[in-house]
Amino acid sequence: MSLKKRLDKLFEKVEDKIIPIGQRTNEICRHNTEKVLNAFLCAGVGEEHLKGTTGYGYNDLGRDAIESVYAKIFNAELAFVRPQVISGTHAITACLFGNLRPNDEVLSITGKPYDTLLPILGMMGNISGSLKEYNIVYKEAPLVNGDICLHQVFEKITKNTKMIYIQRSKGYDLRPSVNMERLKYVIKEIEDKFPNVIVFVDNCYGEFVEKLEPLDMGAHLIAGSLIKNPGGGLASSGGYICGKHEYVKAASDRAVAPGLGLEMGPALESPRLLLQGIFMAPHVVGQALKGAALTAGVFEEIGFPVQPRSLDERSDIVQIIEFGDKGLMLKFCQEIQRFSPIDSRLTVEPGQLPGYDGKVVMACGAFVQGSSIELSADGPMREPFACFFQGGLTYEHIRLALYKSLYNLFDGDIIDNRRLNTIY
Ligand SMILES: *Cc1c(COP(=O)(O)O)cnc(C)c1O
Repeated sequence: MSLKKRLDKLFEKVEDKIIPIGQRTNEICRHNTEKVLNAFLCAGVGEEHLKGTTGYGYNDLGRDAIESVYAKIFNAELAFVRPQVISGTHAITACLFGNLRPNDEVLSITGKPYDTLLPILGMMGNISGSLKEYNIVYKEAPLVNGDICLHQVFEKITKNTKMIYIQRSKGYDLRPSVNMERLKYVIKEIEDKFPNVIVFVDNCYGEFVEKLEPLDMGAHLIAGSLIKNPGGGLASSGGYICGKHEYVKAASDRAVAPGLGLEMGPALESPRLLLQGIFMAPHVVGQALKGAALTAGVFEEIGFPVQPRSLDERSDIVQIIEFGDKGLMLKFCQEIQRFSPIDSRLTVEPGQLPGYDGKVVMACGAFVQGSSIELSADGPMREPFACFFQGGLTYEHIRLALYKSLYNLFDGDIIDNRRLNTIY
């Protein structure tokens, strides 16, 4: 049988298997679309909100509308949503520096945070301006079997612990994401004993994957990137911070300048795209989730470890494929790049990226540079050579890129063709 026929069969088999995932995803998508629409109705978004101001950005109606929509969606007292916030890392940094003071402690209860946060915390040598330099103490409670361990959390909380830090998504770790049900339980346990601690959740990659979000589960502050889920693939730049008024204000004053965070900041040309982006986001996230389930299913069939499994419930859009081989991981990322709408002619190579320790490979042929709600495949060049595959604005594109990439890898004998034998 031709390679094409065998791959067709493989994809057909997996698509049959994941029908229930498609149905569950549609249900979540409908729920979240209604939540987003309600936020637009509540905020009374009108045509006058689709254009932003320039310069200082005083009285920017578009910005106010966006922030009011975000606050409603994420169940927040206040939202700070700006194109001037460059990335998730920038938003998280503002939350940390805005709310912590010398001698305060921040305790991560999901183990080592995402790579780009390590320099900020002071965990990558003497980086000027890190939390450590300000005498703000970072501690962590490691995950046990991939899960938050409350026993360790309680052992590590002290009277100086001002903030608990929870990373919802897996980052570059091989662990499951923290689901909302678990998050609710953990927060309740912590709050019962330590009612004054700020529970801060890095919500990157998690938005709209479930029906509820961290603030619904009792978290006090969340942050994320607009070139991931909530930008819906349309936002050209930006980050958001949502939560309790005083904590969001403190973060905004750090991001802008003390006392000015909520008053200044032009929405520039962006309000229409940010509004349209968040309107599209539940659907786009749904497409990415279906693509992730397909990817998991296909790699399961050909014998590669994946996480989550194809039929698992998810709390972020990231699909891990463990290649266990440096060359194969790199080739797969290169193939994904080849089937991207932008920069398909480039061959990605591992490189040193700002904020990352060690070499990282990133395939991201996106309309917005680095946007990982668009189809992207990346990962650190270290054991077990796991690829972090996420995004895709349409299921059709994810399927196509995956199919064509695998075709080339099998055709070039880069993946052993015998892996296809089990399909019949
Ligand atoms: C992407 C991401 C971040 C921030 O990344 P940026 O590239 O700075 O937007 C932080 N935490 C997690 C878990 C992430 O996935």
